[in-house]
Amino acid sequence: MTTATPTASPDAPPSTCDLLIVGAGPAGLAAALAAAPSGARIVLLDDNPAPGGQIWRDGPGVTLPPAARQQRKALERHAHVQLRCGTRVVGLAEQTARSAGLHALWLEDAQGGWVQHARQIILCTGARELLLPFPGWTLPGVTGAGGLQALIKGGLPVAGQRIVVAGSGPLLLAAARTARQAGAQVVAVAEQAPWTALARFGASLVRWPGKAVQAAALLPAVYRADSHVVRAHGAHNLHSAVQSVTLRQGGQERQVACDRLACGFGLVPNTELGQMLGGRVSERQGLAVDADQRLLRGGAAHGPGEPHPVDAVPGLLAAGECTGFGGSERSRAEGAIAGHIAVGDIAAARALHAERARWHAFADALHRHFALQPALRRLAEPDTLVCRCEDVRYADLAQRTGWIDAKLHTRCGMGACQGRICGAATHHLLGWTPAPPRHLLAPVRIGTLAATGIRADEAPRHTG
Ligand SMILES: Cc1cc2nc3c(=O)[nH]c(=O)nc-3n(C[C@H](O)[C@H](O)[C@H](O)COP(=O)(O)OP(=O)(O)OC[C@H]3O[C@@H](n4cnc5c(N)ncnc54)[C@H](O)[C@@H]3O)c2cc1C
Repeated sequence: MTTATPTASPDAPPSTCDLLIVGAGPAGLAAALAAAPSGARIVLLDDNPAPGGQIWRDGPGVTLPPAARQQRKALERHAHVQLRCGTRVVGLAEQTARSAGLHALWLEDAQGGWVQHARQIILCTGARELLLPFPGWTLPGVTGAGGLQALIKGGLPVAGQRIVVAGSGPLLLAAARTARQAGAQVVAVAEQAPWTALARFGASLVRWPGKAVQAAALLPAVYRADSHVVRAHGAHNLHSAVQSVTLRQGGQERQVACDRLACGFGLVPNTELGQMLGGRVSERQGLAVDADQRLLRGGAAHGPGEPHPVDAVPGLLAAGECTGFGGSERSRAEGAIAGHIAVGDIAAARALHAERARWHAFADALHRHFALQPALRRLAEPDTLVCRCEDVRYADLAQRTGWIDAKLHTRCGMGACQGRICGAATHHLLGWTPAPPRHLLAPVRIGTLAATGIRADEAPRHTG
């Protein structure tokens, strides 16, 4: 990998590259490696300090698996691939370059903001956790399951602490293992899916033997199915944190003493940038793509059965968990296909279709067997905060008619996270479909904002 600036062609702005890949997780790395042999000028960027995405998140004391190390090394051999870590896409730039067939995005790093032009873009923006509100979920010490894992990989000391892991999906097992390896005592793992669903999922793993071995190795003795968090107990002040958790298993409740609760209910694809660029969202809540991973046009999310145009947005592709969650193998297959397609190697892309189909089937099994139980919609009480950036209670939202109505009357979704957390929660709790941001993806520095030319009335209220 190199930090050399790519040479621009005479008709293009100086920051132009042939291919911009947003997100350097398994999908983005596979896309870059597939496209690299073409010699195209590629920029691969990620807002984390190192490549690897969620599964291969680097940090103090982390030993990366061989596949992650191999991909990093392979990337280093391609001098025309510019890897920019600690850099994030914050919004769309003026699209004046469109006539020249270019896309323009605003990027920001620790030094400042600038416009990156690209002939093509592959979106590999991954997914985030679905956090559902329950009484006590804003207590210090309560995090997402993957969230706790990321904190531990980033150096958070948890040795000797009692940790409850709760929610749904295989990420609970990965988070529990990371906590145990860091010296924590995992006192309970509460999976909301019933045993019957888990048994069927287990039986289906004969099609993916590697996953069966992985699951068997990770399953802790304290794993309980049909079990979910009801309430976290503790005191809200600077010196106190969560002290115990009430879990419900079947009809029975029990209170478990703990120092931390790590609770996540699956993943939500990061579709916002794709939607801002004109893509639509599929029934799976991920960016809709065709067989070549080209982003399908449409604007806002649509409901099942609603008609929508099915043409692709020129120059835009999407791969990995931003098209729907389903594991790193699915992300890698999709990323490689997108990379080959971006540089015109159709045959190499088609050769990967069977591999992709295999992991799409695994994703289908995950969706089917870890479907969320209706009881989780009733966890929030009237006083439970749903939008924790703007302190909006469930009772304030229950009387609103939809996302825009709620934003106008309660400021729900208008805080620092711009609805990334509460938008997904209200989708699950109230069936709302949050609209994507119009110009900016996230809070940005005022200097970047001033340089973008975006009017203050178009920008999110919180910029810092
Ligand atoms: C918190 C968390 C922890 C997880 N841990 C595990 C695990 O331990 N084991 C496992 O099997 N699976 C784990 N997963 C599932 C994991 O997401 C996938 O298996 C795999 O990492 C998906 O690869 P991807 O490339 O599609 O997306 P990701 O790995 O999510 O990579 C996407 C990358 O894009 C970057 N990005 C997004 N938006 C922008 C932007 N605007 N500007 C710049 N960069 C951007 C992100 O920071 C991220 O690095 C985890 C998921 C989450 C949410």
